[in-house]
Amino acid sequence: MSIKSTDNQYVAHTYKRFDIAVVKGSGALCWDDSGKEYIDMTSGIGVNSFGYSDPVWAEAVAAQAKLLQHTSNLYYTAPCAELAEILCTRTGMSRVFFGNSGAEANECAVKIARKYAAEHKGAEYFHIITLHKSFHGRTLTTLAATGQDSFHQLFTPLTEGFLYADAEDIGGMEKLIAENKVAGVLLETVQGEGGVNTMSADYLKAVGKLCADNDIIFMIDEVQTGNGRTGSLYSYQQFDLHPDVVTTAKGIAGGLPMGACLMSEKVADVLSYGDHGSTFGGNPVCAAAAISVINRMDDAFLAEVRKKGDYIRTKLTEAGFTVSGLGLMVGITTAKPVSEVIAACIENGVLCLSAKEKLRLLPPLNITWEQLEKAIGIIIDALHE
Ligand SMILES: *Cc1c(COP(=O)(O)O)cnc(C)c1O
Repeated sequence: MSIKSTDNQYVAHTYKRFDIAVVKGSGALCWDDSGKEYIDMTSGIGVNSFGYSDPVWAEAVAAQAKLLQHTSNLYYTAPCAELAEILCTRTGMSRVFFGNSGAEANECAVKIARKYAAEHKGAEYFHIITLHKSFHGRTLTTLAATGQDSFHQLFTPLTEGFLYADAEDIGGMEKLIAENKVAGVLLETVQGEGGVNTMSADYLKAVGKLCADNDIIFMIDEVQTGNGRTGSLYSYQQFDLHPDVVTTAKGIAGGLPMGACLMSEKVADVLSYGDHGSTFGGNPVCAAAAISVINRMDDAFLAEVRKKGDYIRTKLTEAGFTVSGLGLMVGITTAKPVSEVIAACIENGVLCLSAKEKLRLLPPLNITWEQLEKAIGIIIDALHE
């Protein structure tokens, strides 16, 4: 049987796959089972920070796999400790909880906000405010956090206590805080799955102030925007924000499963022994991968990410299209249905994503200029056709 027919028979039908079986990759290039080459502008939805099978990353993974792959969290291991130190040093946060996914990182954030509020204000302060069009994950709690009704239907009852505000409407959020007992606010600086919707600096600052003034835990979901994607290690660092909690996942370990919940000093001791856990959390192989990824994201590398993002924006704007996003997280408003644009790109050897009705680009951060220029040319042709 072919890869596709075996998959269709035996793998749960939760993903509507494109008609491509990817068999190998190198950097921003990958090949399907017929040998066709593609330039990848998806990076596995923002996961493969250094593209496919990057040699430095692969060496870090292989070396750790040969030394020690897992111990459980009953014991100390070097990669987990070192990664936590690197993340705290680079962000000014104080502590990290490691899990395996974005949803798990957000679950941890919600538990921190609720426990903090329960201890400081009372157990009835359990509400979490998120934004309409947000995306925070697929578990029942993070689905509740996701401010899109279409994800909720047929899975109710979800975790209770979530309230939704409109993005950019600070008055609306003030009203929710005045009328409800609120523990935390959770938002993305650029909504990814929700349509690459960029929040304004003023709005983000105002939310941060509102949280600080009301002793509400301010949580930023950097699952997609983090780890260099937007041109700084974490996107909030470009907005002079001081979140209490930052969650991340996707690109942190360059293609291995890892999620992280970063805690500021204010909440560093909220979770204590036994309050939370994850069997694979901080796994040495994933942590070694993440150390190699994060350590390569120095100032020069991040400047190059911003430059590549600017290049894409300039080219697409010149071609007459409206562009949203930050750094190498790009949304493009299309004249014709986005599915047709993606199909034309595939035909011409470029893989792209959608986000709601927009075309979304999340290329590997180390895509070469030559590959980037070629891909953008093909994408502009597909948008025009
Ligand atoms: C992808 C994503 C998640 C969910 O991450 P998983 O690893 O799939 O659980 C949460 N928040 C944001 C902003 C995301 O982009």
